[in-house]
Amino acid sequence: MNKNQQILNEIFLRNKVKGKYKFDYNLSKHSWFGIGGNAEIFYIPSSLEELQLVLTAKEEDIDVTVIGLGSNIIIRDGGISGLVIRLGNKFSNISHNKNTVFAGAAVQDKVLSKYCLKNSIIGFEFYSGIPGTVGGAACMNAGCFGSETKDVFIKANCLSNQGDLVELNNSEELFSYRKNNFLDKHIICEVQFNKVIGDPSIINKRMIEINNQRKDSQPQKVMTAGSTFKNPYNSSELKAWQLIDKAGLRDYELNGVSFSAKHANFIVNKQRDSANLIEDFGENIKKEVKIRLGIELEWEIKIVGNR
Ligand SMILES: Cc1cc2nc3c(=O)[nH]c(=O)nc-3n(C[C@H](O)[C@H](O)[C@H](O)COP(=O)(O)OP(=O)(O)OC[C@H]3O[C@@H](n4cnc5c(N)ncnc54)[C@H](O)[C@@H]3O)c2cc1C
Repeated sequence: MNKNQQILNEIFLRNKVKGKYKFDYNLSKHSWFGIGGNAEIFYIPSSLEELQLVLTAKEEDIDVTVIGLGSNIIIRDGGISGLVIRLGNKFSNISHNKNTVFAGAAVQDKVLSKYCLKNSIIGFEFYSGIPGTVGGAACMNAGCFGSETKDVFIKANCLSNQGDLVELNNSEELFSYRKNNFLDKHIICEVQFNKVIGDPSIINKRMIEINNQRKDSQPQKVMTAGSTFKNPYNSSELKAWQLIDKAGLRDYELNGVSFSAKHANFIVNKQRDSANLIEDFGENIKKEVKIRLGIELEWEIKIVGNR
């Protein structure tokens, strides 16, 4: 055990934590790309209080990374240093009152949208095909087909990396396109959403439409992380997939990594050798689009860990 692992091991034992923890734990099954290095310390907390206790006790210079379902990340081959937190069942509750829907950060987006359908709550249909968690959605301002997380978000209850309770309220500054501007050093534990009652038949119809559109335009059952690059901010510009197509890169392939034939902004990983090869593929695409079209693409996928 190295020094960081010894420090955390002592904290786990001293506090008799009930959550699960492992050292040098391989994270490949926590990434949709099915590949990636080890977490120095991997921890699934058994409660908010326990997580808070561990964060407060750990030294400040030990890095903290939180992962959801790994549907938007590349975990580099060198793994992730410090403490990697994955929220589990204890963060999976959903409930509602008169005006608010409460969802734990580990709730899957599609589970939330089904819950809302069942309770005639409108506005959550777009979550039905996004394969991540509520925490990941709030971090990424996830969205599709004209709706995004910021449209329904009221606030998030978070912990700072030092264990302080922090409330993040919706505001103009909080979200931008596929980005939450204040979450780098926060762990989202629960999100509160705006509750508006709607007609369940309209909600259901919208969910079916969205999922049909998705099936038509996106590859299914492949190792991908969704859109690789953000669409350019300027709405008059082409979308990222159109830029890739225009640059003649739709069929580009490097070391078993290529774009999906169905969607030229979805990377498909067909190799098991290295997560770094996926990053290299993306970096090459960025470079070539810049050379050929003079446009700078920006990663939408989050790249975490060490090369
Ligand atoms: C087939 C496919 C289709 C997709 N379609 C869409 C789409 O239509 N629209 C869209 O927006 N996205 C889409 N995505 C991308 C992805 O599903 C979303 O970005 C999703 O919100 C990521 O959630 P996650 O739980 O998987 O997060 P992860 O991929 O595990 O993490 C993503 C980021 O969120 C952070 N994070 C996760 N949980 C927390 C937390 N509790 N607290 C703080 N930070 C946290 C991580 O640190 C990381 O920076 C798609 C992906 C795939 C594979």
